[in-house]
Amino acid sequence: MAYTYQSPVRVRFAPSPTGDLHIGGLRSALFNWLYARHHGGAFLLRVEDTDRERSKSEYIQSICQALSWCGLDSDEPIVYQSQRTQLYQQYLQQLLDTGHAYWSPAEDEAYGTAVIRFRIPRDRDEITFYDEVRGRVTFKTDEIGDFPLARSDQSPLYNFVVVVDDIEMRISHIIRGEDHISNTPRQLLLYEALNASIPQFAHVPLILGPSGQRLSKREAATSTLSYRDKGFLPDALCNYLVRLGWSHYDQEIFTRDELIQYFSLDGVSKSAAIFDYAKLTWMNSEYIQKADAAWLLTYITHQLDTTWRDQVYRWTEQQLLAAIKLYQQRDETLVQLCDHVKALHDRPVYDHIPDAVPWSEATPEYLRAVADQLYTVDVWSVDAIKQMVQSVCKQYGVKLPMIAKPIRFALTGQAESPSIFEMLYIMGVDEAAYRCRALADCHR
Ligand code: GLU
Repeated sequence: MAYTYQSPVRVRFAPSPTGDLHIGGLRSALFNWLYARHHGGAFLLRVEDTDRERSKSEYIQSICQALSWCGLDSDEPIVYQSQRTQLYQQYLQQLLDTGHAYWSPAEDEAYGTAVIRFRIPRDRDEITFYDEVRGRVTFKTDEIGDFPLARSDQSPLYNFVVVVDDIEMRISHIIRGEDHISNTPRQLLLYEALNASIPQFAHVPLILGPSGQRLSKREAATSTLSYRDKGFLPDALCNYLVRLGWSHYDQEIFTRDELIQYFSLDGVSKSAAIFDYAKLTWMNSEYIQKADAAWLLTYITHQLDTTWRDQVYRWTEQQLLAAIKLYQQRDETLVQLCDHVKALHDRPVYDHIPDAVPWSEATPEYLRAVADQLYTVDVWSVDAIKQMVQSVCKQYGVKLPMIAKPIRFALTGQAESPSIFEMLYIMGVDEAAYRCRALADCHR
């Protein structure tokens, strides 16, 4: 692999493929990835697919696709728990042989008739560990109880496989959602029973919805790829999510390199963060504004909408780039940008003329004059087009809006738009003249 590790830091992101990658999971993945990159260590992906019934291959695919979209690929081949049955059996046998585990009747039907349980050492009252985010955390062992490691058929359960894998994968830091904190004492006991060295833990606070409750589907716990489809840039989404629960002074916008440079677990907040769609959208618009138009064009065509080029078929690359430049300054998502560019490319249908567009008996004549004069502009530039329109106004003794607004309506079928001079420039002389005449003809 191209990447060479400079430190023993090894972190992992361990999704269960029972659904798409939602943004809470993506943020955990990002924190892990940044931690690994900051320390020159390894970021690994482990698919926790021991729950055969709920795990689906399409979710594995969509999770990997979402991580790749965000640039968070695994540095080593992906580990699948479903392929490690033998390994788990060995560890289970070891725990049974050393008396750390025992068979007992299952209380939960889902486990079958019997389970293999972990025996909590009777001399332990409490278990304490140092969490990199929350500090010292203590659990009482009598609140934990002997917990199940495997079902009747010896198929292993979550707390057990996680520990085996983290040992086998030589994980140095476990950075995950706070919802796993109550599993940590069980996992610590397993490390001890297996005589394995214990990794550092960091439990990051959850992301809450605007209502202060756990993020609901309706609010934002939607899949990562749905943000791609809504026209968010991966870097904008990642920047927003990293900031949601981590800070570096009051900086909001970070390049990926800056995030790598500044990221540390010290900067992770102890309190839950509230998901704010408006702020994410603002951040996205900042990224769109700063993006290179050619990059946006490639991105839109390959990632967002593969039919896009066919829909704007009349335009050259140059025209498309100019249209993107025009709208990238005002749009918040790439879907808006695409819609605007497509709308500008397509010939409008003129129904009734909106009140905001001044119209008199003379307006068709103004539009025809502009159409004719477009052919006299010798150097095709925004400034030259502007001068020509101004001279038509002078010729008829009318103020600019009397002609500019009807032109806008002729070009777009809308009463509002960016600069008409830019749009005339992008459309080119024939198309611009065609639209001005078409409106004049249908409303003579
Ligand atoms: N598979 C677990 C989950 O998706 C994560 C386990 C862990 O990070 O320890 O929530």
